Amino acid sequence: MATVAFIGLGNMGGPMAANLVKAGMTVTGYDLNPMALQTLTDLGGLQATTACGAAAGADVVITMLPAGQHVRQLYLGNDAAGEQGLLAVVGQDTLLIDCSTIDADSARTVAAAAQERGLTFIDAPVSGGTAGASAGTLTFICGGTDDGFARAQPYLQQMGGNIFHAGATGAGQIAKICNNMLLSVLMVGTSEALAMGIDNGLDPKVLSDIMKVSSGGNWTLNKYNPCPGVMDAVPSSHGYQGGFMVDLMIKDLGLAMETALRSHSSTPMGALARSLYVSHAKGGLTQSGNGRRDFSSIFEQFITPANDE
Ligand code: NAD
Repeated sequence: MATVAFIGLGNMGGPMAANLVKAGMTVTGYDLNPMALQTLTDLGGLQATTACGAAAGADVVITMLPAGQHVRQLYLGNDAAGEQGLLAVVGQDTLLIDCSTIDADSARTVAAAAQERGLTFIDAPVSGGTAGASAGTLTFICGGTDDGFARAQPYLQQMGGNIFHAGATGAGQIAKICNNMLLSVLMVGTSEALAMGIDNGLDPKVLSDIMKVSSGGNWTLNKYNPCPGVMDAVPSSHGYQGGFMVDLMIKDLGLAMETALRSHSSTPMGALARSLYVSHAKGGLTQSGNGRRDFSSIFEQFITPANDE
């Protein structure tokens, strides 16, 4: 039976690890958050007290962390602080799969360090949201060698439907950033269209049904409607909790802007979407702003406040 170390058991990693447990694999998890770790244990997984403890002896290590600095530190360690990285403790045959959305340079840095030790690392960011993670229908967008891609299949197939090999190391991250830049533009556009319909007396559910089968149809309308009450099982109908945090979308749009600068690409819509999300993160009812709410909460920026007079 394959043994898997799964590190980062948050909104995405938690349900992904659960699907590996369901598939009969021995999954040892680690997360800084004890509650996330407990959820995996309740489902039949094992827990380690450190990331290195989880990874030692595993056939495969899968990471699902917030950003590039977390991934670099976890795999490479921190010499100054005397902290070992995962590369120092895993066995020669251990396959390393990072599913986080991070900058392509961090993915290339970790892959090169892994290669120096004779290890294989692939970047395999995902699309499909928390619903796709729970249902095991994620899209995996991989970068790395043919051999690494082939060896990852038995694990990725338990968590996803579509599995793509975008190219060499880092290519998975570039493709993922292109996708998320488009997603942010679609979410903002869908929100402003729904809000204008509401301002003009339309029922947002009826308007959504119309646009879904018209030329404005897109993923955010079909699967992730930002207007509360239009769809049941989406964050907008649950106080914009769970899902994909505004802060993570801002991180992805920052990566998209850095990528565009380097490749001299023109990305006016992505730049505007980033500005709107940054401004949205600073607003909101709580002191911490909207950063930790789901990214579909951008819809609230377009709603006309009720007139109390
Ligand atoms: P999350 O914040 O819910 O989960 C991240 C988890 O990593 C947390 O539980 C945190 O405690 C843990 N963590 C952080 N540093 C750690 C460390 N050093 N060791 C162990 N655990 C550590 O975030 P998420 O929504 O699950 O997103 C994870 C990644 O997936 C991000 O890169 C995000 O951009 C990407 N992503 C998210 C979605 C989504 O819909 N949420 C969709 C596609 C991709």
